[in-house]
Amino acid sequence: MIPYVRDIQFDYGACDQVSPLIRRVVAENPGPFTFTGTGTYIVGHGEVAVIDPGPDLPAHLDAILAALAPGERVSHILVTHHHADHSPLARPLQAATGAPIYGCAVAAPVDDDGGVRTEAGYDQGFSPDVSVCGGGMAISGPGWTLESIATPGHTSNHICYALAEENALFSGDHIMGWSTTVITPPDGDMSDYMASLELVRARGFATLWPTHGPPVREVAPFVEAYIAHRRAREAQVLKALAAGPSRIGTMVPQLYADIDPRLHPAAARSVLGHMIDLVRRGQVAVEGEPGPDSEYRLAP
Ligand SMILES: [Zn+2]
Repeated sequence: MIPYVRDIQFDYGACDQVSPLIRRVVAENPGPFTFTGTGTYIVGHGEVAVIDPGPDLPAHLDAILAALAPGERVSHILVTHHHADHSPLARPLQAATGAPIYGCAVAAPVDDDGGVRTEAGYDQGFSPDVSVCGGGMAISGPGWTLESIATPGHTSNHICYALAEENALFSGDHIMGWSTTVITPPDGDMSDYMASLELVRARGFATLWPTHGPPVREVAPFVEAYIAHRRAREAQVLKALAAGPSRIGTMVPQLYADIDPRLHPAAARSVLGHMIDLVRRGQVAVEGEPGPDSEYRLAP
């Protein structure tokens, strides 16, 4: 069982100092994929970085600007990925502050997600000023040092940002305390995702600050359980196929009997992510390319 954390205290539009270096402003875009809304983080004092400006809501832009102290300046805008609840406000925030935008542009726009609307969809126009695709870039200001870490999986361009001074990680949608994350092929990739979870586990962070929901403070057991959950889901898929060839549409209502049926279309995309991964690893066989309607069977 994943030890979810869902207790979060905030008011929309208000700014909370949540650690010595971190402030948070939550956008009013709650929903089945965003929990209570997008948490925008402000890092540092005096000259600050803003992480995941959020959806293009004028009230949220006003709230971020109002969170700045007199004389304080935004020097960097960092984006974890190009989902519409994370990146669209980057340009309006830049217009207001002049700060450059850091992130990873997608190689090719993806709209083939099977018609499933995950979160608020993709921000297809996302184009950062500074590319941090490979990870490993140091981004700093007075008293704070951030490092970009490439964590593909949820999306192909997902970047987490580590805050050295607090051994903390802004984990975006890669790891969230309130929920598992959706892996939507082809932009989402389960093989990459598992590798990116291992990468975070190996770093030994003290705290994770997801874009949605409260921080994760028991990081090691949480990430361990997150990985185990995916492995258990994979085992369920293999067990179902052991009973005979099957299709994703048949398996999802059984595998996800315990979740909100509104999330079943998204869950089907995650199962497709598992299938693509299992086909690559030679454990599952399929005729042609693995697709949402394909028939899958255990590899001989
Ligand atoms: Zn996302």
